[in-house]
Amino acid sequence: MPTCRQASRLDLKSTLRQLTWLLGRPLTLREPLPALRPICSLTSSSNPWTSIGLRPQNPLYSRLTSVGVNVVRRYHIQPTTAVTDESLTVQPSKRPLIPYIPPSPALPDQKHQTLTLYTITPIPEHQLEDLREEIFLRLVPFDITGRIYLAKDGINLHLCTPVEHLTELKSSLEQLVLDRFGRGPDGAIWNLSCDQPGERVFRKLKVAIKKQLVADGRLGAWDIQDSEPPQYLEPEEFHARLDEVGDKALLVDMRNHFENEVGTFKTAVKMDCTTFRQNMDLLDQLLEGRDKSEEVMMVCTGGIRCSISGRYVKQKGFKDVKMLKGGITSYGRYIKSHPDVSSHFVGKNFTFDGRRGERITDHVISSCHQCQTPHDHITNCANTRCHLLFIQCPSCRQKWSNTCGPECHQAVETGSGPGLLKPYDYHAQVRPGSLAVDQPKISKAA
Ligand SMILES: [Zn+2]
Ligand SMILES: [Zn+2]
Repeated sequence: MPTCRQASRLDLKSTLRQLTWLLGRPLTLREPLPALRPICSLTSSSNPWTSIGLRPQNPLYSRLTSVGVNVVRRYHIQPTTAVTDESLTVQPSKRPLIPYIPPSPALPDQKHQTLTLYTITPIPEHQLEDLREEIFLRLVPFDITGRIYLAKDGINLHLCTPVEHLTELKSSLEQLVLDRFGRGPDGAIWNLSCDQPGERVFRKLKVAIKKQLVADGRLGAWDIQDSEPPQYLEPEEFHARLDEVGDKALLVDMRNHFENEVGTFKTAVKMDCTTFRQNMDLLDQLLEGRDKSEEVMMVCTGGIRCSISGRYVKQKGFKDVKMLKGGITSYGRYIKSHPDVSSHFVGKNFTFDGRRGERITDHVISSCHQCQTPHDHITNCANTRCHLLFIQCPSCRQKWSNTCGPECHQAVETGSGPGLLKPYDYHAQVRPGSLAVDQPKISKAA
């Protein structure tokens, strides 16, 4: 049975601390452990809520199964560094683990609201674990699902709640986080999805502690709390500014290639990257040698990436940095409530949930990656060994049984072939018009 401390499975030491708690005694390993590779989750009958991660080849694995610990589930994670035995005497944890409680199955006609919230405010590091448990225990009984990331720089969440629990969710987060730690200079940015309430778009609630609110690849190199926020423009102000400046503005889309492929601002510079870290590197290149008095406008999905990168740009010395408050999600709501306004954004706003996007305008700016006909529905390859993120039209979906090509098709249809041997990569995506991954670069929107 998984626990809400799954994130710490990547850390061998904390994994072993959980293990000692499970066994109720200190643990010393005589044999060196190889790197943690694809792992299994283990649980004991005496404490069904505890889980740890180990691969079956690991010598510890057989020792555990011999003391009544059972394998319940298989995961895939990236390797960590190898560890030798002198570092592996671990005392039992004094802190009991809290149980993971899965959400109740969604009722057929139940409506769920998807929403995001972030605030950039200091949270003392030693309070993060307590906060994590409090949030988890408070929200789980209301069948709230999604992701909450906590860091010493603030909170960032993307949740889905039954509509009847929306008020409870908001007041819980106000009390637990915003009233206690403040709202930072940007305030707390609440954002409801553009779409009407519908199906549940996450399977479970995950509350994780991160080193950075959004990993920018510059940990320790700059201080987000010590930097000046960009200027926040409401959607209608942002729209009016784009009307004024036309294509002369430096408008930067701070999202990844698979996001800007299905929808973007018409005049935006698109970043051909797969992570925010690469995005920041490309931003460095883009701004290199530019006049520091030049106006820089920035957009992203819900605003958090611009709140961070906007501060970064200001720290570089740029005076006039504007960002879209609430991001494309909030701009989309503005466009939908003003049918007479001609949108500067075209296509779909990609979302990191089961919807894989919310439509803002009827334009289809991308093509099926298999047959090149215009299409903008993003899907994951149905071969769970592959899981590739790509665009697939309905006829290719039928032809290839929702897989990315012949190998994966064979794997799901017959349960055999090379498609079963593919290296699993949760984040694998393809670039426009192809099923091959190439190098990151900057391009101007067509
Ligand atoms: Zn197609
Ligand atoms: Zn595939």
